[in-house]
Amino acid sequence: MTSEARFPSGLRVRTQEPMARHTSFGVGGAADYWVETRTLDSLRLALESADRMNIPRTIMGHGTNTLVADAGVEGLVINNRCMDFEPSSAAGLIRVASGHSMARLAGRCARLGLGGLSFAIGVPGTVGGAVFGNAGAFGSDVASVLESALVWRPGQERESAACEFGFAYRHSNLQGEDTNPVVLAASFRVQRSDPGALRTDLLRLARQRRATQPQGQNAGSFFMNPDGDYAGRLIETTGLKGKALGGAFVSPIHANFISARPGGTARDVLDLAIAVRARVAEATGIWLTPEVRLLGRWNSRAQALYS
Ligand SMILES: Cc1cc2nc3c(=O)[nH]c(=O)nc-3n(C[C@H](O)[C@H](O)[C@H](O)COP(=O)(O)OP(=O)(O)OC[C@H]3O[C@@H](n4cnc5c(N)ncnc54)[C@H](O)[C@@H]3O)c2cc1C
Repeated sequence: MTSEARFPSGLRVRTQEPMARHTSFGVGGAADYWVETRTLDSLRLALESADRMNIPRTIMGHGTNTLVADAGVEGLVINNRCMDFEPSSAAGLIRVASGHSMARLAGRCARLGLGGLSFAIGVPGTVGGAVFGNAGAFGSDVASVLESALVWRPGQERESAACEFGFAYRHSNLQGEDTNPVVLAASFRVQRSDPGALRTDLLRLARQRRATQPQGQNAGSFFMNPDGDYAGRLIETTGLKGKALGGAFVSPIHANFISARPGGTARDVLDLAIAVRARVAEATGIWLTPEVRLLGRWNSRAQALYS
């Protein structure tokens, strides 16, 4: 059961916080410790507190690209809700804290007549999550519009130019870095545009999304598209579109969306993803790579998704 605790640094945290409440899959176990941060200073305090206590720390945004293990997450999970926003359009840049929603950023910029970020209407997560995964939609991505980002690592903070992130398709070199770096804020390039035209564009893109993507407990595309093809198309060729396994199913609308049913478990989602991946490999010879990040106390079976 969730209760409250205080770290020696004074940070107030919840214990045994169910992560199903904080991810779009809506499954998974509890975080040992959990805190929501709304300012960059409280985010820094949370990061430093965990390091000082020598417990693992995990930064999370909206949890829209994350499958949390049923056995929960060790250490402190930091739910980033830092949403400061500074339009400095004179210099053609906007500055935004990493907990700001990407989709809301698209809306906010459109109202201010600042173009360049309309694609973000299709990305449900935070700015930090989007930089980490080089999120993209409608033919654009973070790599195309990021000027620089402020990154926290133990004992240092540094503004890094976009070229330092080694961006590739759904990849930044923050992934897999030992120091477990955290994006605090980001600057994006924008151009003066007509607010009415931007609004029309956003409505069109949002409508397009609603027409092609399923609702429900999922994390968007489960697998990355292999070179020159689409994971959804490959999955469809195996006949698995719409198929269920335990408490998870392949969406009948978009075959690369794996969803949990209410009452389903993270294990159900993992098992189905492993089965889908194996069937695609059997049928096409292509081993799909997950786009979704696994978080928490997974057992060795989870490695099958990456082998
Ligand atoms: C319906 C739906 C549609 C989607 N469509 C798209 C799409 O079109 N294109 C696309 O790219 N993605 C899409 N996604 C996936 C997801 O929205 C993106 O990957 C998004 O960028 C994840 O952001 P988040 O804040 O939710 O990250 P989380 O799921 O909270 O975290 C994902 C990873 O990022 C890390 N992370 C989070 N914040 C930070 C930070 N501040 N610093 C360092 N690391 C951090 C976490 O530790 C974790 O490893 C979709 C998801 C859903 C549910």
